[in-house]
Amino acid sequence: MTARPPPDTRAGPGLGPNDRAVLAVLADAKGPLGAYEVLDQVRHHGLKAPPQVYRALHRLIGLGLAHRIESLNAFVACAHGRHSDAVRADRAMFVICDRCGAAVELDATPAAAAAESAATAKGFRVGRVIVEMKGLCAGCTAEAPGPG
Ligand SMILES: [Zn+2]
Ligand SMILES: [Zn+2]
Repeated sequence: MTARPPPDTRAGPGLGPNDRAVLAVLADAKGPLGAYEVLDQVRHHGLKAPPQVYRALHRLIGLGLAHRIESLNAFVACAHGRHSDAVRADRAMFVICDRCGAAVELDATPAAAAAESAATAKGFRVGRVIVEMKGLCAGCTAEAPGPG
């Protein structure tokens, strides 16, 4: 057992034990985790069925505490701890390293706002903005051999 501060210090009330266990796993992960990778790490908390993990992930995302990376079908804890409102959580953008798998959350709301206003001009009411950029993170760029 490792002693770590309980994740609910930032999450506040409203989280069940399953939610807290899943959030702790995401917060400790080096990169995005698939639902089954999460499940492997929460079995000792008594979560044994994938639907329990999916329900917890769904709640965490709804509360702005976690995000789904669509292109990886994987999940990360929010880099900001928690978004102040669901709309901001739905505008989270990510850069994903092709080499090490790191996913970095960007505070790129101007780009999301521009995309949303373009959609609004066409009469759309935007729900979620999904922007996921792939490339090499700073660490992998430094290690990668240069061109030629
Ligand atoms: Zn976030
Ligand atoms: Zn990398």
